[in-house]
Amino acid sequence: MIAHPLVMGSREDGMVASQAVADKARTETGADFDAVVIGAGVSGLYQLYRLRELGLTVRVFETGSGVGGTWYWNRYPGARFDSESWTYGYSFSQELLEEWDWQEHFAGQPETLRYLNHVADRFDLRRDIQFNSRVAAAHYREDTHSWEIALEDGRRTSARFLITAVGVHSAPTLPPIPGHESIRGQSCHTHYWPKEPVKFAGKRVAVIGTGATAVQTITEIAKTIGHLTVFQRTPQWCAPLHNARITPEEMQRIRANYPEIFARCQETYGCFIHATDPRATHEVTPEEREAFWEKLYGEPGFGIWMGNFRDILVDRSANALISDFLARKIRERVKDPAVAEKLIPKNHGFGTRRVPLESGYYETYNQSNVKLVDLNETPIARITPTGIRTSEAEYEFDIIIYATGFDAITGAFDRIDIRGVDGASLKEKWRDGPQTFLGILVDDFPNMLMVMGPHAGLGNFPRAAEYSADWVTGLIGFARERGLTRIEATATSAAAWTDHVIAASEGLLFTEVDSWMTGINRNVEGKQVRRIMRYSGGHPAFRQRCEAVAADGYRELALA
Ligand SMILES: Cc1cc2nc3c(=O)[nH]c(=O)nc-3n(C[C@H](O)[C@H](O)[C@H](O)COP(=O)(O)OP(=O)(O)OC[C@H]3O[C@@H](n4cnc5c(N)ncnc54)[C@H](O)[C@@H]3O)c2cc1C
Repeated sequence: MIAHPLVMGSREDGMVASQAVADKARTETGADFDAVVIGAGVSGLYQLYRLRELGLTVRVFETGSGVGGTWYWNRYPGARFDSESWTYGYSFSQELLEEWDWQEHFAGQPETLRYLNHVADRFDLRRDIQFNSRVAAAHYREDTHSWEIALEDGRRTSARFLITAVGVHSAPTLPPIPGHESIRGQSCHTHYWPKEPVKFAGKRVAVIGTGATAVQTITEIAKTIGHLTVFQRTPQWCAPLHNARITPEEMQRIRANYPEIFARCQETYGCFIHATDPRATHEVTPEEREAFWEKLYGEPGFGIWMGNFRDILVDRSANALISDFLARKIRERVKDPAVAEKLIPKNHGFGTRRVPLESGYYETYNQSNVKLVDLNETPIARITPTGIRTSEAEYEFDIIIYATGFDAITGAFDRIDIRGVDGASLKEKWRDGPQTFLGILVDDFPNMLMVMGPHAGLGNFPRAAEYSADWVTGLIGFARERGLTRIEATATSAAAWTDHVIAASEGLLFTEVDSWMTGINRNVEGKQVRRIMRYSGGHPAFRQRCEAVAADGYRELALA
């Protein structure tokens, strides 16, 4: 039985936290811990490792019952990387690189979860992680320069530093359709997928949503489904993943090349292995262009998005040409021309939203037992006890899958009552969009440090998260060496960085499109206005700026 997402809430049913919040061996600061980290995903695990190296007492709080974050929660069928596995793993430990063999170029969720569990065991991280423990509130205390932290179950603790590693896709959302709870069959949000396998053979299944998660889910379950109905509001520009197993010989080559692989990721805009082609679209002949795009379409991974001509995401006519190329591919792959037209995005160009990578997605619509319903033509009126009612028809389902995504980037912050100086609320402060210094610090919220917070650059995640956690560790080390107890971004530095983030996105076509990357979520109140949520100046520029701040002795911060 699939748990209903509304019933399930944000923690696992039946799990009771057993550890005490603090061992009460108070630190020299008077707080229970030197640092509390929220989240035990890729970011939180590495942050814990680094803070331990500094000799800090650390406690990590995690809502789930295990490590892994994204890869712990999202167990839906077909869940896997769009990053090359061997660029996604941590780079900090040579021993780890030596001993871990990736099985596939784009690992599935079970393999990634195994990897992160291996990391947790390998570095003995679990002893400082408290699972089944959702942080509900964190309030700054000026008298002690520390944070008071309250868990959802009422227990409390304190720490000098509050470090958020809460994830950019960890606050799932449901559409505001009436009747969710009335369904007699099974229903589940993809984020809360149960640990036990779900059988689809002979079942009538609905998938609501057609983003990256839905594309993976639909392709996988269509292989065994009785009948599948896909409810689509916004089609996406998908491109082939071209996944393959990694042979032992290939793994040997990858291992030998790790230094070059990581160095290349450091140089690229989004920390991927794919670097932008220096040519502009119109600099080459139509034949050369077509041949280049065919090549990219036939290659694994994000090359067609990240390794394309330099102007496809800024120049309208270049973007129209690549969009037209992708539209032709969809028409070639989908037999029914009417269905193909529905699957071709009309309200945004290729690459201006997150590009889902797929492994036969379009061909699923050639199956006689798969139907596409366009919600723009016939919106869902309600969920009924037996299925879904649209403005036009009544559908019966055994299972409804909500692939309706996340309140991205700031959602996990909004779900915690975070209060800084004089009780200032972070949610309120960010009501009109995030304001940060380097995506790491916020003025009026001293000693709060964010790993991959809003206004950090997104991309191949662990590459950026390792850097972010290293920078946080460097700053805390600097403060401890000098006996500083209060670290804060100044209002001037935060305003300057926020202005810079906004300026860096000017001219980029993605800013003209509604998506989670521009802070839009039609399922969340107050998230209907486009905002700049992430830094678009590229990781090399981001690192340069961060390094300049550190090299200057963090003088842009208020330190006491
Ligand atoms: C389906 C899917 C596929 C993805 N594929 C890729 C990919 O191919 N490449 C890529 O680079 N990125 C990908 N991402 C992005 C992915 O989120 C990152 O790669 C990475 O896993 C993020 O790690 P994190 O530790 O920062 O956050 P998360 O993995 O989201 O972990 C955050 C953790 O914080 C916990 N948490 C949040 N709030 C609280 C609270 N109040 N109290 C206690 N605990 C809390 C959550 O339970 C969660 O476990 C994907 C994301 C999704 C959802």
